[in-house]
Amino acid sequence: TWSTVPAGPPDPILGVTEAFKADKDPRKINLGVGAYRDGQGKPYVLTSVQKAEALVDGSKPDKEYLPITGHAEFTKNAIKLAYGADSAPLKAGSIAATQSISGTGALRIGAAFLARHYPHAKVVYLPDPTWGNHIPIFRDSGFEVRKYAYYNPATIGLNFEGLKADLLTNAPEHSVVLLHACAHNPTGVDPTPEQWKEISDICKQRKLFPFFDMAYQGFASGSTSRDAFAVRHFVSEGHQIALCQSFAKNMGLYGERVGAFSLVTADPEEKARVDSQLKIIIRPMYSNPPAHGARIANTILSSPELYAEWETEVEGMAKRIIDMREKLYNVLTNDLKTPGEWGHIKSQIGMFSFTGLKKEQTVALAQKAHVYMTADGRISMAGLNSNNINYFAEAVSGAVKG
Ligand code: PMP
Repeated sequence: TWSTVPAGPPDPILGVTEAFKADKDPRKINLGVGAYRDGQGKPYVLTSVQKAEALVDGSKPDKEYLPITGHAEFTKNAIKLAYGADSAPLKAGSIAATQSISGTGALRIGAAFLARHYPHAKVVYLPDPTWGNHIPIFRDSGFEVRKYAYYNPATIGLNFEGLKADLLTNAPEHSVVLLHACAHNPTGVDPTPEQWKEISDICKQRKLFPFFDMAYQGFASGSTSRDAFAVRHFVSEGHQIALCQSFAKNMGLYGERVGAFSLVTADPEEKARVDSQLKIIIRPMYSNPPAHGARIANTILSSPELYAEWETEVEGMAKRIIDMREKLYNVLTNDLKTPGEWGHIKSQIGMFSFTGLKKEQTVALAQKAHVYMTADGRISMAGLNSNNINYFAEAVSGAVKG
């Protein structure tokens, strides 16, 4: 029956982990996958999460199904975290929202909802480059996928002129524009607040639909409200945005699959209609979401003490990454005199850094130095720590010097 099914290519990111696992060298480093690691290179379960989980377990919850749109209190608290407690549509009760299977599930619900109900052409503009999964998520949901300029390899920074030109003149009115709310993956390059304001104005002028993916709230700057700047600015400017949230990174709940999808609507009556259609989208997809992770996240979001503890831990994770950026820059430039300009290592934001290394260099690094990263030269900063950073910097410096 399946004799004509062709073998598909391996996932570019998870494939890196496979190669890493097969490597027996004790010095090996995996900077492929975007999961936080502590100062010892180990997965990190936040203390606030451990406490919240103990409270959840202690309350001996039953294993009944959640409603189709999930844990209502969790969803309410999740959107409050993103939009801010004083958000006008939040206070007006006009944000339609549902729990989702982490950020990926939120994107998929959002794309499916727009594919069915957005009253214009189903064309989405994604930044070039973007998180690889955005492309099939929108394509499989029935969108035509196009790119807008984002990254400038020459400066290893934002191509803001190209971005503006694409959104102002190339994208037809009513196109959907996917925006990484903070900590752009894979580049680590974010617009400044001033640039965000311009992007908001352009979206208004050109009637573009802003679709935010916020997978790293708190991870970029260490502050959940600072990282929500773009989302909150757009909403305050009257944009009716779509928003995908993930608690994979900021609560370290990766495998628990905790997220939310929301849409700003005109009023509570419209919200109720949109909510009813979200249920109709979700029911045949997976019926209802898992309960455990949402209970943990909600316990944190609804307890002032755990919330404060969590915020400190998010800040700690962000700070450790920023420290690693500083250290890597110093070792590469001051100690090893590596040719080239490395300032981007410090200026880039969030979990990832686009090193500027070429594909051949990444292959050589894996083969000769047992250092693994994606072929585009992206490294997960969280995989670096005081034990491996010097070895890593020497390997990179060696690869650059050739
Ligand atoms: N969006 C972006 C930009 C991401 O980097 C990720 C995680 N790599 C996600 C969404 C979704 O991740 P998850 O489904 O684990 O929440």
